[in-house]
Amino acid sequence: MKSSKTNDHPLRKSLIDWYDAEKRDLPWRRTKDPWLILLSEVILQQTQVSRGVEYWEKISDRFPNPRALAKVDQEELLTLWQGAGYYARARRLHALAVQVSKPAIEGGFDGTIPGSIEQLLELPGIGAYTAAAVGSIAFDLHIGVVDGNVRRVASRQTGNSNPTHDLVSIWANSMLIPGRPGDSNQAMMDLGAVICKPKTPKCELCPISDSCEGKENPLAYPAATKRKKSIENLDAAVLLDPSGRPRLSRRDSSERFGGMWGPPMSDIATDSLTLVGEVVHHLTHRELRVKVWSGQCSKGTDPSTVPISNLDRKILKIAGVM
Ligand code: SF4
Repeated sequence: MKSSKTNDHPLRKSLIDWYDAEKRDLPWRRTKDPWLILLSEVILQQTQVSRGVEYWEKISDRFPNPRALAKVDQEELLTLWQGAGYYARARRLHALAVQVSKPAIEGGFDGTIPGSIEQLLELPGIGAYTAAAVGSIAFDLHIGVVDGNVRRVASRQTGNSNPTHDLVSIWANSMLIPGRPGDSNQAMMDLGAVICKPKTPKCELCPISDSCEGKENPLAYPAATKRKKSIENLDAAVLLDPSGRPRLSRRDSSERFGGMWGPPMSDIATDSLTLVGEVVHHLTHRELRVKVWSGQCSKGTDPSTVPISNLDRKILKIAGVM
């Protein structure tokens, strides 16, 4: 990676001054409570900020600390998580709450979130990015976060179209203001989300444009990596009882949408069923194409009483249930 003027203190200061003036008003930025900050980071792993606020508010309201979550069944969290997708996050968050709620002599943390990167990384669902975000924001640990947004800004700032993870990490650490690592990281997150956007960077508004080696042609950085979505063909059987309620079962935790409820999607004999349509559902690296079949059963479940994923909602809707 080329040398850059971003190590100069005035540039880091420009970034933090911009953040202090322009930062997004997000509810988890009004607290230093590690649990509430961790909750926001888990939600934001795969949910946009605008929708994440709604989920964070209802989940933090219902579960204001790890113990409150640890003592209920996982399904209660999944019900609140409906519609946010990537339900493995919710299952792992529940496992995390159970783990940290154990007494210290049993390997837990007496109901608190631990304050070192090593301990955070041992918790279910916590990877390097989330550990660095929680560690810096809640515990003031001097460690830069690295994700796709930070990589893009680093690539443009340094004119390196394909920086390695280690180089981005060194650059992110160089941008931390001593004493304010959490705010520095959040400033970088905001810059990537609001100013240095993937397709429409607003260089004229960028607080660190002076040091940017890629601003003449920002879309060239980082180099595009083409990844084609794989297609998976599936069948779903919506079997209705005499009252019009579908047969639903809880998906095993080892399956996709584990812990959520839905109609049968495996071992389906379609001979006696009627094809009613097809649902296309996009996951990050996969496109699901689900043929929806309709038939009858003796006893169904009221869908409003169980947590159901967005895909299963679409399937039930096409079969005329929701
Ligand atoms: S000047 Fe433009 S390309 Fe460079 S970091 Fe700022 S927004 Fe991104």
